[in-house]
Amino acid sequence: MTETTPPTTDAPSDPEVARLVEGIRAGKRAALARAITTVESKKVAHRRHARAILQALLPDTGHAVRLGITGVPGVGKSTTIDALGTYLTQQGHRVAVLAVDPSSTRTGGSILGDKTRMARLANDENAFIRPSPSAGTLGGVAARTRETMLLCEAAGYDVVIVETVGIGQSETAVAEMVDTFLVLGLPGAGDELQGIKKGVIEIADIIAVNKADGDAAKRARQAAAEYRSALQILTAPDASWRPPVMTISGLTGDGLDRLWADVLRHRDAGRESGAFDDKRRRQQVAWMWTMIREQLMAALSLRADVRARVGELETAVADGSVAATVAADEIAQMMGLGEI
Ligand code: GDP
Repeated sequence: MTETTPPTTDAPSDPEVARLVEGIRAGKRAALARAITTVESKKVAHRRHARAILQALLPDTGHAVRLGITGVPGVGKSTTIDALGTYLTQQGHRVAVLAVDPSSTRTGGSILGDKTRMARLANDENAFIRPSPSAGTLGGVAARTRETMLLCEAAGYDVVIVETVGIGQSETAVAEMVDTFLVLGLPGAGDELQGIKKGVIEIADIIAVNKADGDAAKRARQAAAEYRSALQILTAPDASWRPPVMTISGLTGDGLDRLWADVLRHRDAGRESGAFDDKRRRQQVAWMWTMIREQLMAALSLRADVRARVGELETAVADGSVAATVAADEIAQMMGLGEI
């Protein structure tokens, strides 16, 4: 923005910020919820508070198991997260569930965040469910979710599950903020596999075919076999991690213990090979760039003269009278960025 204060060095001098930081460290839900609201706000003053809170809490972050979950609507994400989360809180874990869904709006009710879809977890004092930030750009929604993940870690949640619906680019955004990315599939994959995006299988660390119960159990096993052959074709054979394919039932809870064991196995293998630390480092740098892009775009939209000129230039570029590169340069000059 137009402020000259360096963004990451604001001290949490404001008493409200200090109180929130303390409350979060003490694991207080109300403080966590308030800090998340601050992080999600677009107001400049709130963004400043958010940065101060995040910077103060940074040493308290990074310790959770970060698990991403995706799959088409109806595959059983909520059901599985409800069951897996409950299984984990019963073992003494504290579980936070977040969502990335750029299409959701607060007023319309978030598709993914709807607490009634995770009835057990919603009433579990060791679980924290947060809907997707209200609609915005994918980059913006993902950045807010990532910041929320850090706040949850600082509040003592040692498992953070980030859910996303299997459409658009949101899977990649989630895969870029977690350690382990789980793709849920459906029985009877024969047809489904044809349609499933190759890219999603390529970024999967674990694939679980859900609804492997009752009559569907056999078809689920067949689907798992098909995913296994697909993986053999799609992934490099020498990769240090071979994504396991399993069958589970979110409904009965069957296989969730094996699933969790594989999540931990993936983390441990990554720690041993160095892949875990590499990934987190890469993610942090990528996040910085996302934030830079976000800030630049925000700076653009704050300038009324730039907004007006962008509108004119869009028309001129669309009808071919001005070259895109010339238009971009003019805006850069208006923003004082010089010739690029
Ligand atoms: P989401 O859209 O991916 O979050 O899917 P939901 O968790 O809402 O599940 C969609 C439907 O599938 C619901 O009617 C669930 O009861 C059902 N379902 C979810 N998991 C299972 C499962 O493991 N077995 C069976 N038989 N049904 C399931």
